[in-house]
Amino acid sequence: MASLSLKHIFKVYDGTVKAVNDFNMEIEDNEFIVFVGPSGCGKSTTLRMIAGLEEITAGELRIDGEVVNDYEPKDRNIAMVFQNYALYPHMSVYENMAFSLRTMHLPQQEIHKKVTEAAEILGITQYLDRKPKALSGGQRQRVALGRAIVRNPKVFLLDEPLSNLDAKLRAAMRAEISRLHKRLNTTFIYVTHDQVEAMTMGTRIVVMKDGFIQQIDTPTNLYDYPDNIFVAGFMGTPQMNFFEGTLTRRGDSVSFALDCGTRIDMPYSAADKIPARYMDGATKVVFGVRHGGIRLYDSTAADNGEWSHSKAVVSVVEMLGDESLIYASLDLDNPDSEGSTVILKAHPDTRVARGDVVDISITQKKFHVFDAESGHSIKRRIPEENVIPCDVKGGKLCFEGQSIPLPTALVRPDTEGAEAVMPTSALTLGDGTASAKVTRTEDVDIGTLYTLTAGSLTLFAIEDGKLKYSVGDTVKFTLDFCKLKIEKCGITPPHLSNSLSGGLIREKQRGGGYKFFFSVCGAKLIPSKTILEKLFMCKGTGIFRTPLELVFDAGAVSVEKVSEQNIDSTKLFGTVSGIADYGYIKYAEITLDEARIIAPYDGQVSDRVALQIDGERITVKDKKIDMIIA
Ligand code: ADP
Repeated sequence: MASLSLKHIFKVYDGTVKAVNDFNMEIEDNEFIVFVGPSGCGKSTTLRMIAGLEEITAGELRIDGEVVNDYEPKDRNIAMVFQNYALYPHMSVYENMAFSLRTMHLPQQEIHKKVTEAAEILGITQYLDRKPKALSGGQRQRVALGRAIVRNPKVFLLDEPLSNLDAKLRAAMRAEISRLHKRLNTTFIYVTHDQVEAMTMGTRIVVMKDGFIQQIDTPTNLYDYPDNIFVAGFMGTPQMNFFEGTLTRRGDSVSFALDCGTRIDMPYSAADKIPARYMDGATKVVFGVRHGGIRLYDSTAADNGEWSHSKAVVSVVEMLGDESLIYASLDLDNPDSEGSTVILKAHPDTRVARGDVVDISITQKKFHVFDAESGHSIKRRIPEENVIPCDVKGGKLCFEGQSIPLPTALVRPDTEGAEAVMPTSALTLGDGTASAKVTRTEDVDIGTLYTLTAGSLTLFAIEDGKLKYSVGDTVKFTLDFCKLKIEKCGITPPHLSNSLSGGLIREKQRGGGYKFFFSVCGAKLIPSKTILEKLFMCKGTGIFRTPLELVFDAGAVSVEKVSEQNIDSTKLFGTVSGIADYGYIKYAEITLDEARIIAPYDGQVSDRVALQIDGERITVKDKKIDMIIA
């Protein structure tokens, strides 16, 4: 039983190959985590770093709260099961399982108890006297699992344990490993390139590509709400169908014009989570739909108005016994054209053949849309932002007959035809001068998502906890002005992240020993003990020659007017060059000799100020290779 915490974990091989980039994850006790992704994406490297078989280049690994970066593999209380079993050929099954316990000098009786119990769990009791060569692949893998079980580890690490087995045995062993996880009540981390294994076994899945995490989520969420086109295409068989095209809104309806010539029309409410800027009929998007979202048109089936209709020409029919897979093209004139193929499942009795033109239905609910350039999903379960077409008039944000007074920092000359953009989290329900009507509510992992309408405008708000408002309610709302962007009048959110260049220095103390400081802008900032430890762990004494970048947010800085009491070398000194009043908070821009800092401060322009930075809240980057090291 163990929890794991991976923070800013990097692996760089030979000083150049970044195999794992900024891996962050909290794993709870008893989870079954699967790392999945194509070959070379960094899955095994991450697992081996957890096992202690590979050094962690930068970052922090904790098991049950304890930092274990420097622990030997044997001291981490984990057990690893490999693809190639790694059994000792000259030892019996019993001895293979007892081996690690003997090296721990456990009493004979205890060893016997543990080995026979594990053999019982795995159903290999009758093979205990055999040598590995007299076992089948599946039996050998059971012995390998048994060797891990007897040690009663806190964490099981499994690296592609089933890839040497044939398909049938693999499916059986999948179920067996899942059962084992339930029975042992232990944290499992499992590496595979096989998305079916990932989907069927993981409580949460980490999808990786090129050393970067693409998404961490439950199997259902990954399938239903992929964050990008890679995850959408990688998870699920048959693969999701993708079509490039553009999107246009006309009042209450939208239409996808696919490059292959097909047009899919649907009501706006089915696509209202897609940001309006993609609905211009010009920006390239990718429309994605899984096989369950496309079916042959059936005039007798109720479609509740939730399906759009189109035509396709059949190219291949695969009979699979209890179902058929139909490959068809949406491009009737040119069926072989790239990017026009759909795969759909049909009843095995369906009589269609190559060349037939069939009517198909396409879901208006479970479809996906991606930005064609970045590949990011633009129809997210929780939309990322709210966009409000507006005018700025007399210091107020005006839209749909409503107005919200703007704080001093955002007062601008009157501007018409602007657009206010803010993250969904910037809209808070319950109070304020503006109001909207609730038109939909959805339970999402982090609370409740409200869809609201104000005139012809659709807005989204996310609130923690249980449902507070119902469909039909009129709700007041306010905006977080620090998150508001209105480009046309030059309103941008304050940049609340600070960065200073410097290095680590040490000073000999009179009584012996050293004191360590970050030398930045002529000051000597005191690093926290944990940060210092991480820096030495990562770089050794080479840290003194490493150019560093210190990154910290505005909230980590406390600002005071300079006075005789607060002059000391651990502070930075500067002059307030501007104050922005956001109503509930004021931010000062402070000019230092070589830098600018933004921090909360309720004072005047031209004040001379002393800045204290919270050493615990500084992130340290190696400037040369752009890598977080503490
Ligand atoms: P996966 O398990 O996803 O197939 P790996 O973690 O084995 O991927 O490898 C990730 C990347 O690191 C690959 O580009 C691989 O070539 C590289 N790599 C792995 N091990 C080493 C090594 N010992 N030395 C140099 N590069 C390595």
